[in-house]
Amino acid sequence: MGTTIQSHVCGEWVSGTGAGQPLFNAINGSEIGSAGSDGIDFTEVLRFARQHGGPALRQMSFHQRAAMLKRLAQHLMEKKELFYTVSAVTGATRADGWVDIEGGIGTVFSYASIARRELPNERFLVEGAAERLSAKGGFIGRHILVPREGVSVHINAFNFPCWGMLEKIAPSLLAGVPAIVKPATVTSFLTEAMVREIVASGLLPPGALQLVCGGVGDLLSHLDEQDSVTFTGSASTGRRLRVHPDIVANSIPFNMEADSLNCCILGAGVDPGAPEFDLFVREVAREMSSKTGQKCTAIRRIIVPAGRVDAVVSALRARLETVTVGDPALEGVRMGPLVGNAQRSDVWEALRAISAGAEIVHGGKTDFEVQGADIAKGAFFPPTLLLCKQPFARREAHDIEAFGPVATVMPYADTEEAIALARLGKGSLAGSLVTADDAEAVQVILGTAAWHGRMLVLNRHCAKESTGHGSPLASLVHGGPGRAGGGEELGGVRAIKHYMQRTAIQGSPDTITAITREFNPGARQIDAGVHPFRRYFEDLQIGETLITHRRTVTEADIVNFGCVSGDHFYAHFDETAAKDSLFGKRVAHGYFVISAAAGMFVSPAPGPVLANYGLENLRFVEPVGIGDTIRARLTAKRKIAKDPRPGEQPNGVVAWDVEVSNQHDKPVAVYEILTLVAMRGEAEAK
Ligand code: NAP
Repeated sequence: MGTTIQSHVCGEWVSGTGAGQPLFNAINGSEIGSAGSDGIDFTEVLRFARQHGGPALRQMSFHQRAAMLKRLAQHLMEKKELFYTVSAVTGATRADGWVDIEGGIGTVFSYASIARRELPNERFLVEGAAERLSAKGGFIGRHILVPREGVSVHINAFNFPCWGMLEKIAPSLLAGVPAIVKPATVTSFLTEAMVREIVASGLLPPGALQLVCGGVGDLLSHLDEQDSVTFTGSASTGRRLRVHPDIVANSIPFNMEADSLNCCILGAGVDPGAPEFDLFVREVAREMSSKTGQKCTAIRRIIVPAGRVDAVVSALRARLETVTVGDPALEGVRMGPLVGNAQRSDVWEALRAISAGAEIVHGGKTDFEVQGADIAKGAFFPPTLLLCKQPFARREAHDIEAFGPVATVMPYADTEEAIALARLGKGSLAGSLVTADDAEAVQVILGTAAWHGRMLVLNRHCAKESTGHGSPLASLVHGGPGRAGGGEELGGVRAIKHYMQRTAIQGSPDTITAITREFNPGARQIDAGVHPFRRYFEDLQIGETLITHRRTVTEADIVNFGCVSGDHFYAHFDETAAKDSLFGKRVAHGYFVISAAAGMFVSPAPGPVLANYGLENLRFVEPVGIGDTIRARLTAKRKIAKDPRPGEQPNGVVAWDVEVSNQHDKPVAVYEILTLVAMRGEAEAK
């Protein structure tokens, strides 16, 4: 670790020209260096991202960006021990560091895989189905998403120097948007260490990621309408930044994740001795001590049935007794210091304010045992539990965030009261209910969901596999309403779309097909003179269509299909019951109709179609009766080229639009089938 923490801007590592802000070791308070951004020309930083990073990323497809991120995650994982060493200086234990470092790298892996699975191998995204906008179908609409042609600026909190950066840049880079990361200065040295490895890997194009350690100067004043900002930190800073004149004037998306007074509710019927009681106590104690309580999702309000207050307080006290505080490098130390002495003063002050309306029942004293470090020098804080006996009359615990190992127990009389207390947080990132009573879970979740970004229902059935109250996951939304900032992060593809512009496009089916590279209803159907299943991936054009021969459905078809499948449902076999049914007569099995369609459209001899691997969006639109005559139309709808895998013939996915119609040309079944189709190149080489 150098003494001057540098920024990486315009392709170079630079130091601020001023003295910078001093940085300290959280364990012993010694000065370890400084960070400052004076002298950085932020217009140049933005220009570099816009001129280099943006165009380079936008040239890549989603799959290419995903492959880049996967390689980056692999590279960072190889270097993880270096990050753990630096992380210890922030006061983090190995377990705390794991959440930040490997949790962050894991999020990049998850995003790379989400993009490979759920996004096309394209540079833009087509969303939803075609909208028919005219009576004759000659005018339709669709939505596309393209990368915003600007920069994403990420202003992060101090508590997750790695995860905080990675969970934001992964979706941004996948969307094709370069990122500028500004970590909280106090722990910026860990973010710097990670960005050094990212830069050294050479895996990202120049300008895709820039790092500013120190203040953001006048950066926000130079943002324009294509840029976006995410902010994670205290509500007071967030409120100030979100009304920055340039952010307002340019309608710049501003995603805010702020403080949150998250709750955990013990179910009304949970007795001491029940598995849920132990789960509750363990979860609360873990959330209080993990990262020394410096987690945006940490449990701050412990809502328990009035008759269980004493039992919960004594069980929590017993558990918190076992939390050894000290130098995280020492064996057996479970909780390190806060991030620094300024933070320690803030938490003492917040505790004093909360205790005006609640009594301290555990901890809360300045003299406590610290292992392997000097209590006077390091930013140590004892696990502290309060009890607020009148949580409707005294609002301190609902209003004040002590960003440390501090939480308050509060009683409730009935479930309605528990819900009302949860809502007094005025909007939270995460909440939990610990109960095995699903009726109670329904009532509590529906009563609190509008105030929460995520809710966990924990009980004996899911505890073993539960990811816990405090863990944001790549596939689930992270964020919360109201006080929590009103933002949304993560949530799978949702986060990638956040950096893209959704545009409705309208026009003729042919035009919309040309733009989306996807067949749309009403667009020109191409007869290439060859069965489409005999065409290699590269040759097949979107819109290539096969209209099959016809087939009249007989009673023998229904009886044979019923015997093969074992499906003797009355609508197919019981003349009398079928007459009284919705259909008024015996009808063919829907699955017979699609099987018969496959029989009509396949080209049976070996050829480029390697496999049929799925069917989507199936609807049986009209019944097919005995004597009806059906035929199928098969149209190449969408092509997704896959990256070749070693030992596998190069191929791609072709989605086919299928419509089975009757003798009146009315559709009876519509769906999409997915096939793997070989690429010609490799086949010829063989
Ligand atoms: P903070 O003081 O609000 O700082 C957050 C970030 O804003 C830092 O990078 C800070 O930079 C920057 N900043 C401060 N003033 C600024 C200004 N005028 N212009 C531009 N940037 C500015 O919060 P913190 O103390 O780092 O973090 C603790 C808080 O964050 C807690 O309240 C916690 O609940 C919240 N948090 C929320 C989430 C979530 O997901 N909801 C996650 C983590 C933390 P400097 O460090 O250089 O001042």
